[in-house]
Amino acid sequence: MRRKLVVGNWKMNGSRAGNAELLAALKAAGPWVAEVAVCAPFPYLADVALSLQGDGIGWGAQDCSAHESGAFTGEVGASMLTEFGCRYVIVGHSERRAYHAESDQVVADKAKAALAHRITPIVCVGETLAERESGQTDMVVKRQMSVVVHTLAHCISQVVVAYEPVWAIGTGRTASPEQAQAVHALLRAQLNAATAKAGEMKILYGGSVKPDNAATLFAQPDIDGGLIGGASLKAADFAAVCRAAA
Ligand code: PEP
Repeated sequence: MRRKLVVGNWKMNGSRAGNAELLAALKAAGPWVAEVAVCAPFPYLADVALSLQGDGIGWGAQDCSAHESGAFTGEVGASMLTEFGCRYVIVGHSERRAYHAESDQVVADKAKAALAHRITPIVCVGETLAERESGQTDMVVKRQMSVVVHTLAHCISQVVVAYEPVWAIGTGRTASPEQAQAVHALLRAQLNAATAKAGEMKILYGGSVKPDNAATLFAQPDIDGGLIGGASLKAADFAAVCRAAA
C-alpha cells in the first residue's frame, strides 16, 4: 500500500511574514494520514526548515542545478540543499521547461544530482494542450520519462513522478480522474518495465487540484497524491486537499 503524498509548490510567491502565517496555520491543521511537504523559493528555505523542525511536514526546493559546483551563477546545488535537511526537489516543472528551455536530459541530470545528495526528486512530466489535442499525450510523457529512466538506471525507483498536464496548471481546468488515471497507468507500466519496485513508486497528479476535486482524483488506483500550486498558498485549501488524500 503506497502512502499518499501531497506537496505544495509555492512557486515565486510568499514573504517571510506570510510564510510564517501559512505554516503556523498548516501545522495547526495537521496531522494528516498522507505525507505532506511544501516546496518554497530558495531564500525562504532556511526559515521553512526552522519552522517545520520536529513537525511532520516535510519541505523541499523547486529546482536544483544539474552540476555539482562551480561557475554557474545563480544556480543552487543539491549539495547545498542537503546541508539544510532538504527532503524533496521539484525538477522539470513545465514552467522551467518552458521559460528556461530545460530539455528532457537536463531534467534527468537534475534528478541524478538530487539523488546523489539523498534528496528525492519530484520529476514532472506532462503534455501541452496542443499535444493532447493532436493525440500525442502518451508519446510525450513516455519520451520525457524514458530519458529519466535511462539516466537514473537502477536508481529510478527512488524518484517521485508528477504527471502535470500543462493545460491544467494554474488554469482551473483539471484533467478528469479518468484522463489522469490513464496517464498514471501508462507511466506505471513504463516504470514497471524498468524496475521491480514500480509498484512502490509514487506518481502524483498536478494541475488545478482544489478541495472540491482532490478526493476523486486521489481515489484513482495509480494516483498517489498531488503536486499542488495555487491551492497550496491558502492554508485552509491546502489542508483540505491534504485531508482528501487519506
Ligand atoms: C503546479 O504548479 O505544479 C500546479 C499544479 O499548479 P496549480 O495547482 O495551480 O495548477
